[in-house]
Amino acid sequence: MNVFSDTAFDGHEQVVFASDDATGLKTIIAVHNTHLGPSLGGCRMWPYASEQEAIHDVLRLSRGMTYKSALANLPLGGGKSVIIGDPRSQKTPELFRAMGRAVEQVGGRYIVAEDVGTSPADMEQIASQTKHVGGINDGSDPARTGDPSPFTAYGVFIGLKEAVRFKHGTEDLRDLRVAVQGLGHVGYHLCAMLHNAGAKLIVADLNTNSVAAAVNEFNATAVSVDDILGVDADILAPCALGGVINDRSIETLRAGIIAGAANNQLEHDRHGNMLREAGVLYAPDYVINAGGVIEVHYCREGMPVADTNKHIEGIGATVREIFERARQQNLSTSFVADRLAEERFGQQKHAA
Ligand code: NAD
Repeated sequence: MNVFSDTAFDGHEQVVFASDDATGLKTIIAVHNTHLGPSLGGCRMWPYASEQEAIHDVLRLSRGMTYKSALANLPLGGGKSVIIGDPRSQKTPELFRAMGRAVEQVGGRYIVAEDVGTSPADMEQIASQTKHVGGINDGSDPARTGDPSPFTAYGVFIGLKEAVRFKHGTEDLRDLRVAVQGLGHVGYHLCAMLHNAGAKLIVADLNTNSVAAAVNEFNATAVSVDDILGVDADILAPCALGGVINDRSIETLRAGIIAGAANNQLEHDRHGNMLREAGVLYAPDYVINAGGVIEVHYCREGMPVADTNKHIEGIGATVREIFERARQQNLSTSFVADRLAEERFGQQKHAA
């Protein structure tokens, strides 16, 4: 007898709590869905204020990975893990080896990778205990540095161009003004690609060195972090934080397209509809920022970078399908993306 509703534990197949007294490890491993393959997702180390907060985060993030991998056409499901602890003071090799043993116990249903608070060195420790780990660079392809950010940026670039094509009927970015919020690992690479394609950049970051570099290298125009979302531009590329598309920013938005790397850009689902009503074309974040997870998969399978890039280029066709369905059915692109993902991983709960 199934005593749970179909949304118990947010629809997760398995949630594992593991601890190790000797190393102080406290981890939660969440496997959301494995219909398309083993679940893959990063291991986040964070000083959560409570276990409840950690559970909330890991369930939300692992669910998101199912949607991302499904729409990225990867033979993977969605999962995530969190380690409760401060990555600045509580990291030890032993702790990550204990984490490796916890991952091993999930028996291959979860593949761990890097995330906020964890590094390639931590993954090496995990890899000493389990083969179910991604993002380990064996050095066989010189085009592979172990950093997924350039691949994420490439996918965003492909998705952004597709949005321009859908809205303006051409992929030509020359003289289009792109406002980039956040010049970190992904945002800076994206700026380089946009600059090479002839776009005019408007940039903002809290880090003034990154801003100065973008002004110098890409002839970008710098604006304050308070002004970037409402700046007069054709395209807005959020590459910093989540939740930036909200009631306040939609009021001041002037860009006709939103296409960026940041996860969870919409503060609430309803903001997808508000963008549609305002005539703004939104390229759903998790669809176009999947380049990183695609690279983690290809790296793990030992496939060349050229194949990774080819796969990433497929993001264009996926986002086009979403734009077309959304237009035909008069729905928001974010809603259509979620339903398309659910069709793929076999969980058709919501009628469109
Ligand atoms: P990062 O930490 O390297 O860069 C973020 C940048 O945003 C930093 O330079 C920071 O100073 C800046 N920033 C923070 N608050 C800001 C604000 N209010 N205004 C302007 N700039 C601000 O992170 P990243 O790896 O480049 O990732 C960027 C976003 O993309 C994140 O939301 C991340 O979750 C998402 N993402 C990244 C990857 C990847 O491969 N790195 C993959 C998928 C999604």
